[in-house]
Amino acid sequence: MPIFRFAPSPNGELHLGHAFSALLNQALASVAGGTLLVRLEDIDLARCSPVLEARLLDDLAWLGIVSAHPPRRQSEHFADYAAALEALQSEGLVYPAFMTRGDVREHAQNCEHASGIAYPRDPDGAYLYPGEEKRLSRSEQQAMVDDGQPFAWRLDMQAALSRTGPVQFCELSGDEGTVEVQAEPHLWGDVILARRDVPTSYHLSVVVDDALQSISHVVRGADLMPSTSVHRVLQSLLGLPEPLYHHHRLILDADGGKLSKSRGSTSLAALRAAGLTPLDIARMVGLQDIQLSASAEIEHPER
Ligand code: GLU
Repeated sequence: MPIFRFAPSPNGELHLGHAFSALLNQALASVAGGTLLVRLEDIDLARCSPVLEARLLDDLAWLGIVSAHPPRRQSEHFADYAAALEALQSEGLVYPAFMTRGDVREHAQNCEHASGIAYPRDPDGAYLYPGEEKRLSRSEQQAMVDDGQPFAWRLDMQAALSRTGPVQFCELSGDEGTVEVQAEPHLWGDVILARRDVPTSYHLSVVVDDALQSISHVVRGADLMPSTSVHRVLQSLLGLPEPLYHHHRLILDADGGKLSKSRGSTSLAALRAAGLTPLDIARMVGLQDIQLSASAEIEHPER
């Protein structure tokens, strides 16, 4: 049975973009004769809170979003992500990375200064991690860890890709059915898989949960499409199944900018307090008479 998920992070108020994603997931699940699961991506304990979670669930209930099971709260499953990290560690595919974000910036800017060439950045605009630690032996890395120096676990992307070979994903696109997209994980370099303060990462926990919850269809915003490349690599390394993907359009603000929790975009709670109904919200995001193609029913094409 098709299983969809809506996976917000309770670190701020839900806005129209979340409403669109949740309503679209629910509609596609219904068309496909499947179910929808809500997942709370609350690994960042410093930014997520029970109060924000309660508000989020209240907004979703008001909107008419129904999770087939009680929401999975990622913060209650750190052991699952630790097990996946351990599997990658035992394969020698991760390494302890000691440079801070500030160290990386300084290194990149020094290189740019010396060479006059732009230092490579990932799809989010962050400088790629230099990865000098990979030149150290395992015991040298371990000595630094034992020394108590703060570090994050990073994926050795080159080693990972030599294991997986090229990776692809299947994108459901309204008009063309399913399109095979060549993933570009190298653009991300050595992504963080776990930190000292947060013992996992978005990339690691999302692939573990999509597999544990047997998610068949991942429907999320187009802003996350570049991340899918990393997810496919992790799925391949960890032997996890490959869901179908659909990266939907983003709801933009009046100035054409992306809605965001941090920019205080109009929240569902504020719209609700102003007297709008769930149908008004559906209208505002263009889903009032959702024309759903049968795309959600498409099976994985043979590769
Ligand atoms: N938790 C992510 C967010 O709120 C969504 C992750 C996903 O759908 O894969 O942006």
